[in-house]
Amino acid sequence: MSFIEILKKIPSANERRGSFGEYFAASYARRFIDALVLKDVLIDGGNGQTSQIDMILIGAKGLYVVEVKLYKGAKVYGDGTRSTWYYYRGGKEYDIYSPLMQNEGHIRSLKKLLADFGDIPMFSVVTMICSSFRISNINPPGVIENGVCNSLPSMKKVLQLIAKDKPAVLDDAKKRAIYDYILAHQHTGKDERIKHKEAVRELKKSVETLKQNGLCPRCRVPLVPRKGKYGEFYACPNYPKCRYTQKENVSEK
Ligand SMILES: [Zn+2]
Repeated sequence: MSFIEILKKIPSANERRGSFGEYFAASYARRFIDALVLKDVLIDGGNGQTSQIDMILIGAKGLYVVEVKLYKGAKVYGDGTRSTWYYYRGGKEYDIYSPLMQNEGHIRSLKKLLADFGDIPMFSVVTMICSSFRISNINPPGVIENGVCNSLPSMKKVLQLIAKDKPAVLDDAKKRAIYDYILAHQHTGKDERIKHKEAVRELKKSVETLKQNGLCPRCRVPLVPRKGKYGEFYACPNYPKCRYTQKENVSEK
């Protein structure tokens, strides 16, 4: 049975990034990349928040930070310069926060945590298990290197390609030291997990309220209408510093 077949057997849940996905992605990755693997890591994200990272691969060329999402049977559309992405399933449209930007946040947290190790190269790999995707501007200028894929076999290719021309910078001792450091500084324990989940839930609630009031959930300023390739949308006036967008100015979802 292939890993994809195993994934298909996982009980369907909308947009779950469940531990099954992480578990199989991690055991899959272990088979082909010479890296130390950490999965489901909870670390400080600054401002009293925490970052939950699905998988960190510590290889000779740097750290591969992997976000795994399950959008079973869905088509995912997004733009690397926009914070809102969409997926379609059963004739319905859902909006999601850009997994690319989410993973950029994880990398910022990880860079802060590992500051004493110097500037370690970090690569962002977003794996969305879905039927298809179309993402434009995957590598907007000034942003860390991103890879996006929609299956575990394509994740394998992305992991191999993303650092292909990069020099090896970490020897085995350094890889091990980084691995041990993350293990020692991650949050463990049920309380921390529950706190993280509650914080995410609260954040989502306040983001919804701001959106319903036509405000950018980050800058808290009124959104302005813009015209794009696919019609009108609403964007934060602080673009390009803030890349928040939404389709309607009053969210009814
Ligand atoms: Zn904004």
